[in-house]
Amino acid sequence: MQPSRLVILGAPVAHSLSPAMQGAALAAAGIPLGYEALHVEPPALADTLAGLVREGAAGNVTIPHKEAVAALCDEVTPVAQSVGAVNTFWSAGGRLFGDNTDVGGFDALARHAAGAGGAGLSDATVAVLGAGGAAAAVLVAAAGWPGSRVRIHARGVERARELAGRIGVGEVVPSLADAVAGADVVVNATPLGLRYEDDLPAPLAIIDRRSLLLDLVYRRGGTRWVQAAHADGRRAADGMRMLVEQGALAFVRWFGVEPDREAMWRALD
Ligand code: NAP
Repeated sequence: MQPSRLVILGAPVAHSLSPAMQGAALAAAGIPLGYEALHVEPPALADTLAGLVREGAAGNVTIPHKEAVAALCDEVTPVAQSVGAVNTFWSAGGRLFGDNTDVGGFDALARHAAGAGGAGLSDATVAVLGAGGAAAAVLVAAAGWPGSRVRIHARGVERARELAGRIGVGEVVPSLADAVAGADVVVNATPLGLRYEDDLPAPLAIIDRRSLLLDLVYRRGGTRWVQAAHADGRRAADGMRMLVEQGALAFVRWFGVEPDREAMWRALD
């Protein structure tokens, strides 16, 4: 059944690009629904979700609610179960369902950036920088690349150990230089780069020239890390494709049809 209403829940949420992107997808599909950003503080989350379920609403979830929504769902997909977080929800018959499309979104970004349908991701050594919710999605995606090995580096070693233990993927490497040395793929899953003046997640000098750099942070024209990598003749991509693909996978969950991805990209421009 089609959702009665579409929202994104977060705090803060005003900065989210999802309303513009999903609004464009809805318009292109001729679906007469809006997509609203709902600022919800953590204490109000359970009641807000209960109200949305009564209305038959669906939507997305962003910081800081992804883990809490997973716990509030009546049923989650195996992928959301593995990540321990939900970024996409829908409701039916008074029940709340959750999925995590960040995993598929990251997988699509990596396959596109690696080229050849992602063939080069098999047997890859993947260095993941950061140990939060986005890193969890990366670990689950990388676990699906045959023969891959994952290293996790985060400034909080305990958080990294907890993540590796919970997901059952990855070796924690306390030294950044050791984590990225010889890696085929280096993923920035920290917020570094959200502000242009931020430090780079890892200096290019310690990263192998043939490594593929994937930045989950996105910025029009590329993040500074991606720009620096391109200027140095390296392969790199920012997280814009992950944003579009996680949104497209959510759209398929809600409506059972593929959205117009071109319209979504245009809206982000
Ligand atoms: P999170 O749960 O807050 O985790 C962030 C991780 O980065 C933590 O390990 C944190 O360490 C670390 N970190 C934070 N500030 C740092 C700094 N200044 N230097 C080094 N490490 C730092 O956040 P998240 O949900 O995983 O999201 C991370 C980023 O991914 C977001 O900022 C967002 O831009 C991006 N993202 C993109 C997409 C997409 O569709 N492209 C989707 C999801 C997320 P501590 O635990 O020590 O704080």
